Amino acid sequence: MNPKQSQTDCVFCKIASGEIPSKILYRDEDVFVFPDINPITPVHLLVVSLKHIPSLAHMADADTPLVGKMVAVANKVAREQGLPEKGYRLTINSGADAGQLVPHLHMHLMGGRRLRWDN
Ligand code: AMP
Ligand code: ZN
Repeated sequence: MNPKQSQTDCVFCKIASGEIPSKILYRDEDVFVFPDINPITPVHLLVVSLKHIPSLAHMADADTPLVGKMVAVANKVAREQGLPEKGYRLTINSGADAGQLVPHLHMHLMGGRRLRWDN
């Protein structure tokens, strides 16, 4: 990862660099995927940009392909997890009202049970 795009105090940047260990299920030059430490569904993965972008609200026009790639990677991993037959959900929390806890752009990939709108 380009160190200029990482933040030393960011938990997801630390997972990307290996400083915090995690089970990385997918990784390429732009995106990586690992299990949420506090899963709320049987399958609950985080699809994360390698580039440190604090939230969806901070994405630049130039980041549009990156966010598209995150969706494509989420779909690929969802297929590997056998989710598409029954369905799954991608969620991006942006900002305090959405409950964003980690200020580094990520998508929740959730499935494995019937989801209500309030989870
Ligand atoms: P959000 O509320 O969208 O910012 O979600 C952040 C998610 O990151 C939460 O669901 C946390 O459980 C998860 N999380 C925080 N720290 C870690 C970690 N070290 N490894 C895996 N998941 C984490
Ligand atoms: Zn970060």
